Amino acid sequence: MPSLPPLPSCQSDHDAAALRVDQAQRLLAEAARPVGGVERVALRDALDRVLAEDVISPLDVPAHDNAAMDGYAFAGDALDRPEGASDGFVTLPVAGTALAGGSRGDAPLAPGQALRIMTGALMPAGCDTVIPQELVEDAADGHIRFSASAVVRGANRRLRGEDLARGRAALAAGRLLRPVDLGLLASLGVAEVAVRRRLRVAFFSTGDELRSIGEPLEPGCVYDSNRYTLHGMLRRLHVDLIDLGVVRDDPEALEATLRSACEIADAVITSGGVSVGEADYTKQTMARLGDVQFWSIAMRPGRPMAFGRIASGAHEALLFGLPGNPVAVMVTFYQMVRGALLRMMGTDAPTPPRLRVRCAQAMRKKPGRTEFQRGVLAPAADGGLEVRATGQQGSGVLRSMSEANCFIVLAHEQGAVAAGDTVEVVLFDGLV
Ligand code: AMP
Ligand code: MG
Repeated sequence: MPSLPPLPSCQSDHDAAALRVDQAQRLLAEAARPVGGVERVALRDALDRVLAEDVISPLDVPAHDNAAMDGYAFAGDALDRPEGASDGFVTLPVAGTALAGGSRGDAPLAPGQALRIMTGALMPAGCDTVIPQELVEDAADGHIRFSASAVVRGANRRLRGEDLARGRAALAAGRLLRPVDLGLLASLGVAEVAVRRRLRVAFFSTGDELRSIGEPLEPGCVYDSNRYTLHGMLRRLHVDLIDLGVVRDDPEALEATLRSACEIADAVITSGGVSVGEADYTKQTMARLGDVQFWSIAMRPGRPMAFGRIASGAHEALLFGLPGNPVAVMVTFYQMVRGALLRMMGTDAPTPPRLRVRCAQAMRKKPGRTEFQRGVLAPAADGGLEVRATGQQGSGVLRSMSEANCFIVLAHEQGAVAAGDTVEVVLFDGLV
C-alpha cells in the first residue's frame, strides 16, 4: 500500500501532536482522491449525483430571438423616426398576433408595423423591441399608441443563445447536480448524463456501553445515537450507506469489522474509541491495518479524531475515526469528513460561506484551538443579525446542536469574546 508521509501528529506528546484545523483539512484534501467508475443515468436520476463529463450545449438556448413580455413587437427605429413619432408618442398599425410556439417570426413585417406578441413567441424578422401591453393604448383603425420614452430599443427581447450558446460547456465535470441543473440540461434536450458511481461508505459505533434501540438500557449504558446522526448526514451526501452496527471495545472484533468494512467500502467512519482511555482501540487497530495520518486536532469539540488509510487484502479505504461524543461526531463530520467525502465523490462543492455577525454575549475561549460553538443566528433589534450560543456547550449535549441553526467558529488564535464582538458563523442550511 502507498505510504503516506509521516507527520508530527504521530509523536507521543498529546498536545504538541494536535494539528491545526486548517492543517488537518489540507491533509484530508490531499488524501481524498476521486474514486473511479462512471455510469449513465436518466436525467431525473441524476439529481445529487456528480457529473463525470462536461456537457457541451448542442443547441442555442433560446434557439431564436423571442419576446420576454406580452406586448407588441416592432422595429426600434420607430422610436426616433420623425414619421412614426409626434408629441413624443409613437403610433403603429398592428399587423397580427404571434403566440408562443407559433412560427410567425419567419414572416417579416412591413416597415413601420407592429405585431401583437406573447411571451416566448418568436420575434418577427426586422423587429428588435417589445413594448409591454400595459404601456400601450389602443388608437383608431387597429393602431397602437405609446410614449417613445416608455421603452428603449432592444428592450424585452431575449436573444438567441443568451442563456447558453451552442458548443459551449453548459455544465462542467465535477458538478454536484442540483434541481436547477436538471432544468438546464432538460432545456438542452439532454436525456441522459454520465455521472460518477456512488461512493460507498461503511460506518459503525464502538463501545461496550452502547445499546441499540429496542434493547433494555442497563445502568451505565446509553443508546447508540451516533449511528443515526451519521446515517442522516451521509444520506444527505447521497452515498451508498453500509451500516455495520455496534462493535464491542475489543481489538479483535474491531480489526475484523474494519477489515470487512475496508473490503466493501471506499471510506469507513467509526465513532468512539479514539481517545487515550483504556478501552480506546481504534487508533492502534488503524495503525496495524495501515497508516495513521493524524489522531488529534486542535479543535473543540472533536480533539481526538483519527484519520488514515487502511488495507485488507487488495482493498484500501480511508478511515475516519471520529470521537464518541455525539456533538463531536457532528462537528468533525461537517468540518473534516464531509469535504473529504465530496472530493472522493469527484466534486469540489464549495465550503459553506462564513458570515461575520455580532455576538450577543461574552464567550470564554482559549487561544490555541479552533472552537465550533453551537449558535442561534437571529435578527437583532437594530435590523442586523446577531448570534448567541445555545446554552450548555458540552460535547455530549446533543440538544445544543438540535437547538442551533449555525456553528459559531472561533479561530485558532482567538481569545475570549466580549458581548458585541464580531464573530464568524456557518449556517447549518449551507451544509448538504
Ligand atoms: P469514547 O470516545 O469512546 O470514550 O466515547 C466518549 C463518550 O461518548 C462516552 O460517554 C460514550 O458513551 C459516548 N458515546 C460513544 N459512542 C456513542 C454513540 N454511538 N452514541 C452515543 N454516545 C456515544
Ligand atoms: Mg468508547
